[in-house]
Amino acid sequence: MAGGSVIRGSRIGAGPMGESARGASAPRIQVSYWCANGHETSPNFSVEVQEELPATWDCPTCGLPAGLDRDAPPAPPVNEPYKTHLAYVKERRSDEDGEALLEEALAALRARRGS
Ligand SMILES: [Zn+2]
Repeated sequence: MAGGSVIRGSRIGAGPMGESARGASAPRIQVSYWCANGHETSPNFSVEVQEELPATWDCPTCGLPAGLDRDAPPAPPVNEPYKTHLAYVKERRSDEDGEALLEEALAALRARRGS
């Protein structure tokens, strides 16, 4: 009984330490990614994931996707204007909503004053 609780306690204590020990003992590889702006980023991967390395990596400098091929970095995403348009529509819609609400409130105020 007492022995069991000791093992449990040491396991909890070794949790975070065990993780870093595993990371240090497992062989790691450094992979270089290049973004369209020429930034190089070299994240580390454990050898276990070597066969399923991500094809792209977000550049920590500019946020563009970076690729394994230095001469052919992935093109910057083209969904930005789309997002802006959506945001614009959203903005307009909320403006209209706000106006409607304001008019409703004014009407209620006028009705209250009138009576
Ligand atoms: Zn970059």
